[in-house]
Amino acid sequence: MPIQIVRADITKMKVDAIVNAANETLLGGGGVDGAIHNAAGPRLLEECRKLGGCRTGEAKITKGYKLPCRYVIHTVGPVWQGGGHGERELLESCYKSSLMLAVKYRCKTVAFPLISSGVYGYPKDRALRVAIDTISAFLLDIDEMTVYVVIFDKASYTIGEKLFSDIKSYIDDRYADEHYDASSVRMRQYEVMRDGRFNVENINAKRDKKADTQSFADPMPTMAAQSVPLAKPLSLDEAVKQLDESFSEMLLRKIDERGMTDAQCYKKANIDRKLFSKIRSDKHYRPSKTTAIAFAIALELPLDETRDMLMKAGYALSHSSKFDIIIEYFIERGNYNIFEINEALFAFDQSLLGA
Ligand code: ADP
Repeated sequence: MPIQIVRADITKMKVDAIVNAANETLLGGGGVDGAIHNAAGPRLLEECRKLGGCRTGEAKITKGYKLPCRYVIHTVGPVWQGGGHGERELLESCYKSSLMLAVKYRCKTVAFPLISSGVYGYPKDRALRVAIDTISAFLLDIDEMTVYVVIFDKASYTIGEKLFSDIKSYIDDRYADEHYDASSVRMRQYEVMRDGRFNVENINAKRDKKADTQSFADPMPTMAAQSVPLAKPLSLDEAVKQLDESFSEMLLRKIDERGMTDAQCYKKANIDRKLFSKIRSDKHYRPSKTTAIAFAIALELPLDETRDMLMKAGYALSHSSKFDIIIEYFIERGNYNIFEINEALFAFDQSLLGA
């Protein structure tokens, strides 16, 4: 997955380069800077002394010494002064300059801390947004690089933010709906039995109406539905002829219909090129659920088509799963920004979209 949000200690990450949130002297400090120097040993400071400092928004590179990474890219983030002093531009420039150095040194894997979000005071949710937006824009032109955004102290930035509290109430509402649905189904079963209305049109009408609003994973099949006579079963031959298009076929068809290129689609889905090639060349490839949803998001499919696409890969969306409800939340609002969705999934401890 080209961008991954992870919770980790950056000094432990086995990547080609980690990025240090340094200060202009490059002579070490507290926070992540201190942790990196401690883990790398004194030779890192020796090399830093020779660099002559670094301006805010720029980046310089050293070796990684005792760290498990090959390089440390040192960048200096802006101090937050309320947002009206070019902080965002400077922070963007930190990510861009660091990534340009990473490309120059042929790094395929790079890990960033949330620059400026510690003692420099940049609000963590905004710092994360700048990180994700800038890195994802940069990766549009670069293939085969994975960038980790490392969150150290998750609790401090999550649920307080408005987006996350909206999502939280949305989840709570859906859970309530699910509960309500189950009892209303029971009520309808009771009514049907009481009135003796075992009548197919009636039942089908109710079922169709409900299908618009309900997930596939309805855990409560109604007695009424069970009593509907089954259609004549298909012969094996007929069934094979009626096999639907596969996930891969549907994906490629939708990419064409949308007038997208393959690369536009897999980049928007936060999927790497190799995985996409596998799916493209194997008609029967069965992706993971997060990959399948990532493509539905990249294609900006509405909810019903998202469900179709998931079904091709053997999955459904359910109101009993927080993950699924969060996906629905974004699709219903027409927000197909996979990175924003991943931030929300991360905040709620769910798997992220992508490979
Ligand atoms: P700045 O001066 O740029 O604000 P800080 O080091 O104070 O830099 O904090 C930057 C971010 O790095 C903060 O979000 C902090 O929680 C995080 N951080 C601190 N230590 C680590 C670590 N070992 N690994 C990853 N992130 C860390």
